[in-house]
Amino acid sequence: MRGAVLHAPRDIRVEKRDDPKISAPTDAVIRMAATCVCGSDLWPYRGIEAVNGPAPMGHEYVGIVEEVGSEVRSIKPGQFVIGSFFASDNTCEICQAGYQSSCVHREYVGAGGAQAEHLRVPLADGTLVATPEIPSNDLVPSLLAASDVLGTGWFGAVAADVRPGKTVAVVGDGAVGLLAVLAARQLGAERIIAMSRHEPRQKLAIEFGATDIVTERGVEGVAKIKELTGGLGAHSVIEAVGTQESMMQAIRATRPGGHVGYVGVAHGVELPGEELFFSHVHLHGGPAPVRRFLPELIDLIYNRDIDPGRVFDLTLPLDQAAEGYRAMDERRAIKALLRP
Ligand SMILES: [Zn+2]
Repeated sequence: MRGAVLHAPRDIRVEKRDDPKISAPTDAVIRMAATCVCGSDLWPYRGIEAVNGPAPMGHEYVGIVEEVGSEVRSIKPGQFVIGSFFASDNTCEICQAGYQSSCVHREYVGAGGAQAEHLRVPLADGTLVATPEIPSNDLVPSLLAASDVLGTGWFGAVAADVRPGKTVAVVGDGAVGLLAVLAARQLGAERIIAMSRHEPRQKLAIEFGATDIVTERGVEGVAKIKELTGGLGAHSVIEAVGTQESMMQAIRATRPGGHVGYVGVAHGVELPGEELFFSHVHLHGGPAPVRRFLPELIDLIYNRDIDPGRVFDLTLPLDQAAEGYRAMDERRAIKALLRP
């Protein structure tokens, strides 16, 4: 099969790779209907995260089950399925509590590289969710978004304790931040402040439910959120970047007693203990347990209540994955969908 491999910073090649095989009796192998490039793929792409030799890339996937191992019970060949970047048994105590991305048996699905024609998914019964039928083509981008960015934005909103009537601020205007806006709207927030200085992203944020746009960042951004909230700060702030600046911006824009949901993969973030102590802010986040939300998200997409696939503003054949990375790196595209 063909798949995307990162050889060195900014050196993505689509090349021939071994076909994945069932290696454990709980595995499934799927044929990809669509895959995509994640904002978090840009960390190794830019060389900020080390790459040890050629690395298969990608961890977002939807597709048709081709083969299952002998112990797989609920997932069957021919089904259209969605899973998340961590495989989980969905039965252990941690999974049952809704934290499937910390499952005691978790495995990183992306190790196999989802930007490819086929993918091996471990713990298929726990990890994969089948759609009611084979979806029409126009639903595929939204279902693919549920695999990571929608589920991650949704977790950010849940972790930030978004509730009806509350004021929410979102730090970060990548696909996750934009879909956190959509999640906050679905969860009933009254006021949703998107922090973005890029016009096409501001437009999409407003379509997803943002009521206010703040272009300032850092100290000025915090001052602007305070100004919009009677000097108090937002009830809920979703952090969807993962830098020191964005994390501090999120914490400082939250009112005492409020909640920060942080879902940007942290790189070099160090929290000042004393400031945190006096802030009275709740912090919760981490790698999103997307599996917890998949059944509900698939329902919302099938009922056409939400259209998260709109974050894909670039569609390319898999063979042109390198251009997808370049376009996202240069912020010419919000998110690139790849068709195998
Ligand atoms: Zn588990």
